Amino acid sequence: MKNVVILGSTGSIGANTLDVIRSDRKSFSLLGLAAGNNIELLERQAAEFSPRRLAVAGSGRAEKLRRKTGAGVTVLEGEEGMVELAADPDADLVVVAVPGTAALLPTLAAIERGKDIALASKEILVAAGELAMAAAARSGSRILPVDSEHSAIFQCLRGEQPREVRRLILTASGGPFLDVSRDEMAAAAPAAALAHPRWKMGKKVSLDSATMMNKGLEVLEAHWLFSVPLDRIEVVIHPQSIVHSLIETNDGSLLAQLSLPDMRLPISCALYYPDRCPRPFRQTILSELEGLTFREPDRELFPALDLALRAGREGGTMPAVLNAANEAAGEAFLAGKISFLKIMEVVEAVMAGHRVAAEPDLEAILRADRWARNRAKEIIGREEGNR
Ligand code: MG
Repeated sequence: MKNVVILGSTGSIGANTLDVIRSDRKSFSLLGLAAGNNIELLERQAAEFSPRRLAVAGSGRAEKLRRKTGAGVTVLEGEEGMVELAADPDADLVVVAVPGTAALLPTLAAIERGKDIALASKEILVAAGELAMAAAARSGSRILPVDSEHSAIFQCLRGEQPREVRRLILTASGGPFLDVSRDEMAAAAPAAALAHPRWKMGKKVSLDSATMMNKGLEVLEAHWLFSVPLDRIEVVIHPQSIVHSLIETNDGSLLAQLSLPDMRLPISCALYYPDRCPRPFRQTILSELEGLTFREPDRELFPALDLALRAGREGGTMPAVLNAANEAAGEAFLAGKISFLKIMEVVEAVMAGHRVAAEPDLEAILRADRWARNRAKEIIGREEGNR
C-alpha cells in the first residue's frame, strides 16, 4: 500500500489521479489533499477519501473548511500548509499538480525528505531543475514524470543504457493554432486559445499549448529529468496525440509509446511505479486509429520553442525568468490586456533585460522569478498605455 499526498487535487490532473486511486483503493491510501480555491470540490473529495490533512490557499477558506470537516481532519493554510503536507513523515509519494511554480517549495521539501514525486508541474524543473535533481540524488527521491510526453520517454527508456540513446523526440499536438495564419493568431480571443483540440486541461497548460511554450518548457523539463543535453532533444508535430513521444537509439531504432490521450495512463505509470496498473483505463485499438502524421514545427510562428531553448542554453536563472515572464504575460492575455502574439514579445523583452546568475541557489531563483514578473508587468503596462 502506498501512502499518497496530492498537491492540486481539484485541478484536471488531481481529479484524474483520484480516479486512478478510486479504481484501486487497496493499493493506495490518501494522506493529504491540497487545493487552491475550489473548496467545494475539495470538501467532496475529503468526504470520499477521508485524508487526515487538507491544505488550502487562504485563511478565510481554511476557516470555512474547518467548520465543515470533522474533528479528525487537520486543515492547513497557504504555502506553509502545503510544505507540511508534502513533508508528511508517512507519505511515500507526493503528486505535484499545481499550475506554475506555486508548489516549488513544497516539492523541494518532499524531495529533501526522500519521498517519490509524481511530477505534473513541469515549471518546477524548468525553474529549479539543477537544485531539484541534486536534492533527489542526495535523498534517493525518485522524480517520476506525469507529463504524457515525459512518461512516454520514461517508459521507452526502461531497460536501455543511457549511452545507447541518441535522441529524445517530444511530440506536440500543435495546439489550437496549428494551421492558423499569423493574422488570425494576432486577433485570437482567450476562448480560442484555450480550446485545445485533443486534451481537456487547465487554463495555464492550455494557453501554453496554444503558444507552444508548453513544448519549450517540456524540452527543459526533459533535459533535467533524463539528463540529456538540449541539442539531443527534438520536437516534432503530431496532431493526433497518439504517439506521446519517442527515443532514438544509436543504431537508428525509434521506440515510441502509443495510447489514446487519457492522462490516467501516465498518472498510473507514476503511481504504480515500478509496477504497472494491472488493467487499462482505455484500450487503444490500432485498427481504429486515424492516420498518424508527423511534421516539423514552424519556429517562426511559434517563437516560444527557440526562446525556451535559448533560456536553457544560457542556464542559471534564465529558465526561471522565461517561466515567470510566460506566466505573467499569459495571465495578461487571458485578462484581455495584451494580444496573443504579444505574449512571446513580452517574454523575449523580459529575457533581454535579465542578467543571468550562474548556479543559483533557491533564493536567487525566487528573486529572478519575482524580478521577471515585475518586469513583465511594467512592459505590459506600457503596452496598455500605447493602445
Ligand atoms: Mg505534456
